[in-house]
Amino acid sequence: MLYLDHAATTATHPEVIKEMLPFFQDVYSNPSGSYEFAADSRLMLERARKVIADSIHAKPEEIFFTGSGTEADNWALVGMARLKKEQGKHIITSTIEHHAILRTCQYLEKKGYEITYLPVDHDGCVSVEDVERNIRPDTILISIMYANNEIGTLQPVERIGEFARKKHIVFHTDAVQAYLHEPIDVVKQSIDLLSVSAHKFQGPKGTGFLYVRENIALPSLLHGGNQERKRRAGTENVAGIVGMAKAVSIGMHNLSENHEKLLSLRNYLIDRILKEIPDVVLNGSLENRLDANVSFGFRGIESQSLILFLDMEGICVSGGSACTSSEKSISHVLQAIGLPEEYARGTIRISLGVENTLEEMTYFVETLKELVAQLREFS
Ligand SMILES: *Cc1c(COP(=O)(O)O)cnc(C)c1O
Repeated sequence: MLYLDHAATTATHPEVIKEMLPFFQDVYSNPSGSYEFAADSRLMLERARKVIADSIHAKPEEIFFTGSGTEADNWALVGMARLKKEQGKHIITSTIEHHAILRTCQYLEKKGYEITYLPVDHDGCVSVEDVERNIRPDTILISIMYANNEIGTLQPVERIGEFARKKHIVFHTDAVQAYLHEPIDVVKQSIDLLSVSAHKFQGPKGTGFLYVRENIALPSLLHGGNQERKRRAGTENVAGIVGMAKAVSIGMHNLSENHEKLLSLRNYLIDRILKEIPDVVLNGSLENRLDANVSFGFRGIESQSLILFLDMEGICVSGGSACTSSEKSISHVLQAIGLPEEYARGTIRISLGVENTLEEMTYFVETLKELVAQLREFS
């Protein structure tokens, strides 16, 4: 099998699994216990928090563990809406956010909040000027993703952060796709809230975190016990958190090496596919692009057929994104970049992982060329 859908999820790193195992059987204590045995898992939670905080230049007390990237996104938005409801009910986001953001915004609209969905250009990029033009006295939050999960475009996070800070508006970014691909510094980039999910970087599924800048009293979504300094109730997923921290250590240690490797594989795909296959477009920005993502629209092809044909050759890719693959309609992201329908219908996403090789890319391009030609012949 050739797995090229790392934006959907990744295999858990063997070292991560090894690190997690003792926390199911030996150190299974509830960190809230009062005995020495509980202190062991408590210590590991705090070590994990430190490793994660260091990776984004935050303080350990600014890191809150969650059950997913989706939960972190929901918490950031709903929490801020509740915290600031007396000051205003206006939120700025973009049209190309992940559904964890967009559907939470729709929920907030039903609760009386007003959301401005900023458009993007043909590359999928939000303009800082648009952010500036759309703020109002009652704007309480700006939420713009760091990197798009479908087309890989990186947003001008630092410039948006700088502007938001100047205007005293809280700035959240969904960094699920960018984390451990791009260097992140929440201080330098003026980020107030940041969402991450472990299973996108060789950590376990069902674990994530939200960074909350220290002076923001984000209220809890979940009510119950006093875990996470009373901000996120529920017994901590100790094994998952330990595994996530291990994946962070590995990813941080190899950050630049992995980045270079992914970039060269990605650029190889872009060069060959654009050169050797007719009637194809690269979706998203060429310069401001995630190292692991390519997205191509093939004219006159149904992406579902291409995905099926590739699957029969043992190759896993996806359409727009994993979350919309069962839907027939064109993804909101491809609509937002104004991609003509004949290309949007034939769009696939290839997302790379560090275990991928150049030989695999060669095999992929050769197979893709044949299948695209076959499908075009049939239609
Ligand atoms: C995967 C993803 C999420 C959701 O994370 P889960 O941990 O799977 O809930 C949110 N935002 C983006 C950009 C993603 O790619």
